[in-house]
Amino acid sequence: MQASNFNDNSLDLHNLVAKNQFGTFFGVSQQTLDTVWDNLTGNNQNSVVYISMEIGADPDVFHPIKDRLMDLEKTNSMDSRLKQFVKKIFEGPEKIPCYGGGLGVLAGDTLKSFADCRLPVVAVSLLYRHGYFSQIVDSKIGQIAQSVAWTPEETPGLYLLQDPENPGQALQVEIPFFNEFDQETLAIAQVWMKMEVNHTLDYFIPELLLDFSLADNPVPIKNAAGQLYNSDSSIIKATQRRMLGTGILPVLQAMGISSYTLHLNEQHGVVVVLQLIAEELAIRVKKSDLSQVSNEEIIAAADKVADRLVYTIHTPVKAGHDRFNKSVYAGISHRSCRRILDLLAHDDESLHSYNFTTLAMRVNRTANSVSRLHRDVTHKQFPNFANKITAITNGVHHLTWISDARAELFDNFPELKNWRRDPGVLRNVDKLKSNTRFRTYLLRAWEEDTTILYKFINKMLLRHRNQMTSTWIDPPNHYSNIIDSSTKLDPKIFTVGFARRFSTYKRADLIFDNIGKLCSIAVNNNWPINFLFSGKAHPADEPGKSVIKLILNYQQELHAKSRGLVNLIFIPNYDMHIAKMMVAGVHIWLNNPKRPLEASGTSGMKAALNGVPNLSIMDGWWVEGYHEGQTGWKFGREGSVDEADLSESPDALLYAEDSASFYATLPLVLEEFYENDEKSRFIDKAIMNLILNVPIFNTHRMAAEYLQKYQLKLPSRLQSEMDGFSKLYNSNE
Ligand SMILES: *Cc1c(COP(=O)(O)O)cnc(C)c1O
Repeated sequence: MQASNFNDNSLDLHNLVAKNQFGTFFGVSQQTLDTVWDNLTGNNQNSVVYISMEIGADPDVFHPIKDRLMDLEKTNSMDSRLKQFVKKIFEGPEKIPCYGGGLGVLAGDTLKSFADCRLPVVAVSLLYRHGYFSQIVDSKIGQIAQSVAWTPEETPGLYLLQDPENPGQALQVEIPFFNEFDQETLAIAQVWMKMEVNHTLDYFIPELLLDFSLADNPVPIKNAAGQLYNSDSSIIKATQRRMLGTGILPVLQAMGISSYTLHLNEQHGVVVVLQLIAEELAIRVKKSDLSQVSNEEIIAAADKVADRLVYTIHTPVKAGHDRFNKSVYAGISHRSCRRILDLLAHDDESLHSYNFTTLAMRVNRTANSVSRLHRDVTHKQFPNFANKITAITNGVHHLTWISDARAELFDNFPELKNWRRDPGVLRNVDKLKSNTRFRTYLLRAWEEDTTILYKFINKMLLRHRNQMTSTWIDPPNHYSNIIDSSTKLDPKIFTVGFARRFSTYKRADLIFDNIGKLCSIAVNNNWPINFLFSGKAHPADEPGKSVIKLILNYQQELHAKSRGLVNLIFIPNYDMHIAKMMVAGVHIWLNNPKRPLEASGTSGMKAALNGVPNLSIMDGWWVEGYHEGQTGWKFGREGSVDEADLSESPDALLYAEDSASFYATLPLVLEEFYENDEKSRFIDKAIMNLILNVPIFNTHRMAAEYLQKYQLKLPSRLQSEMDGFSKLYNSNE
């Protein structure tokens, strides 16, 4: 489907194998590989390193190479070497479970847009052999975390890089760690490359994934290498951050990558600045022993280094900001690093901690938040840095999140020609507003996606019931006991989607605060509702896990009190695939965090991209995406925000106030859905989302805004294309 834009056959399959000194790669031509490498290496330093703790880019939701193969249908007549690659793509695992939520998915989406826009960027992250956990849900126990078994070696599109000097051997990067006596212990990382290939297969962004799980590595390193966001101890957590931060420069050097600008997402990789400062000092003062340099010299070096860093802060939630007890750092860094930290990573709240958010705020040339409201909040949180913090509102990669049915619709209208290249084209839906054919097809596409979602859910509900006999797991859904061949969940029923991480500030249980009230809305008007919920809680987040438990416990009560009109279904093991089905298949997307703790949120943008309206608290991106009566509905507390609003304590979470507002708003939504022919008012809203929101909340526009911070020199044609994207919106207004 995605590949229907290939009209020429010039990209022969055999041309899609390329090699260089680091290995042989499938999916791009030699020319493309050389172009990307030329962009990143050499002396011009005209490229960017994008650094993230997690990257979410599952091939089962976006895979241009596979689409291309399906398009060509040439898979039978090819030489044996090619066959291996192709077999792996068709039969290999389709998940790379190295992401935990919004941050990782955003990173993946961003890199895909960088690739579409042909920007000189390379990403660095870690490879976790045990990934992020997979979630089983039992109605009595709640969430059960299972570690995922995955094998990078068998995963299509992942390549272990070779050592150019010893062909056949893996490239190994040495990274110095220290013990509390300042004795060096070397950690070794191998490097995997995933290519984030663009939809026309003529450019890609390399993701370099450092893999520290080697047998010879020191035990603390190996412990920290397995699992994303392992928080068994603060030492493991700090070590993991350090593996990312200190791995960056050595891997770039080993590969000859010369980027000047480093883009930090959160402060996870910020210890890279310690190395940069040490290098700068070595040049400036020619003293190899940092104990001899003055504080002023360190500060001057930091100011110089700051010019190389772009910093994005992604959350106002305190738990998202790394603070480590100084004693933790005694064990993993050199004395001279600790001197730099003493000067630059001051923690306002504790003399005994380093604050890495402070360090990242301090050492950069520009910092940004991820929405306008988040910018205002960040200004209040970090008054000392307020003058340099701007807003770049997040987006989503439109080619990843558009459903097949919607994409086909767009393909069929000449007014939307080129929408794959330029999501701004969707503004032209304005010309199709009252085109009956467009409206009918849009409704049909929506119904098709709803049917797909319901097939998945009804199958899941039966599977859960049947698995009871083979496992000890109780079906997580009450409905598994009801469903049979004649009683199934019905796609025609108004369907509300809610899916994201289960953190307490996201308040997944908000709308069930008064179940009697909720049920009476349905019963009094005979308006049935299906609520579809999904999401994982971090395994160490007990309050988050208990919200999942609560949700499960409400199911029976909702069903009984509403006489079967209201059903709540929980879909276990939320991932990108489930997200994609949900955002396109539901009738409305619900988001109800405690304002202003949702810095941006992106799942609502994925819904909007498919024309699905949002019903949301005025937080994050929705402050910018909500247009009264046009794109969806708002509810809950509004108004200005201050420090006190950042509290996450249970009594500050505004359950009573915001749920009451929800119950007042919901009937308006249901009336529009049930009391209009051909869903006409919902189609109006879908259309307004395409016109007003898609051109803004996409990662092409976002990439263009970041580009203004990157200070790259680009060929003029490319630069003017990017200027076009940045004209779609100015986040920082
Ligand atoms: C988009 C997405 C998220 C982020 O959702 P938010 O609403 O921004 O919290 C998390 N997990 C997955 C799998 C996603 O696809």
